[in-house]
Amino acid sequence: MKRRLTLHFPRDAVHLPITYRLAVDFDIAAKILRAQIAPNQSGTMVVELSGDIDELEAAEAWLEAQGLALNRAPGQIVIDRERCVDCGICTSVCPSGALSCSAPAWQLAFDAQRCLVCEQCIPSCPLAAIALVLDPNQ
Ligand code: SF4
Ligand code: SF4
Repeated sequence: MKRRLTLHFPRDAVHLPITYRLAVDFDIAAKILRAQIAPNQSGTMVVELSGDIDELEAAEAWLEAQGLALNRAPGQIVIDRERCVDCGICTSVCPSGALSCSAPAWQLAFDAQRCLVCEQCIPSCPLAAIALVLDPNQ
């Protein structure tokens, strides 16, 4: 199964070879969707983890034991249909196919089930029609 996480690295954990350890110790493939980590500073990484459910649970516990803060459901993507002009630009940056625009209608379609909430589409929209709505329970 796949799980999307936002990892917050404290300063003393940025050197950890996270993707290597996940692969070797837990047989989990980690696809980095977005990363903002500078050497010797705290940082944030958005990853998609793929693997067995038990291994995913164990890997998350290991990550937290290393001092990382995990955000499992930071919110959801919302498209403002009033602003959107169906230009399709956002579909080119979407890694999961959640955003699509195809014939014959050429209208933007959003499949929330496929969305990884990687946020790559947000800055791609020239009309600021895409937003991240935070989960009120977080
Ligand atoms: S956040 Fe945007 S770019 Fe990322 S998967 Fe969802 S729709 Fe696609
Ligand atoms: S980039 Fe913005 S305006 Fe263009 S299709 Fe996507 S949401 Fe709509």
